[in-house]
Amino acid sequence: MPDRFATLLTCIDGRIQRPLDNWARQHLAVDYLDVITEPGPDSAVTTTDDNGLANLLRKVEVSRTAHRSTALVVVGHSDCAANPVADDEHHEQLHRAAVRLARHLPATRILAVHAGQCGDDCWQPHLISEITPRPPFSHFDRRGQRHDGDAVHRAV
Ligand SMILES: [Zn+2]
Repeated sequence: MPDRFATLLTCIDGRIQRPLDNWARQHLAVDYLDVITEPGPDSAVTTTDDNGLANLLRKVEVSRTAHRSTALVVVGHSDCAANPVADDEHHEQLHRAAVRLARHLPATRILAVHAGQCGDDCWQPHLISEITPRPPFSHFDRRGQRHDGDAVHRAV
């Protein structure tokens, strides 16, 4: 039986909500998404201090505890008002955000997703990286290099 809940840490931007909701429910085979919004979450997770991160993690914890969510999707997107950087930079931030979150959420599957703009009202989410909390506890960087660590990291 699929997990019923996953957690989405996404931007406040209303344009990306429906495409991300569809992508995440389909990709994770869940019925519901608990949604935490933060302007430019990919940048926020990578640049915030420990207190800021703890504040975000408290929100994630409610979803994990109350709804037994075992997956967290962290999002970046094109044309982000709070984080107006090029797509390449979004991708870099998403990698770093996933690694930072995984350090604090060792039992949670972390997915970093970028929603690219494909037209006026067209957003295409795609997986940038994924960290899965199961053996053999190693990960691959973007060049396919394997590192021993505390999680499996699959570069996409
Ligand atoms: Zn945004």
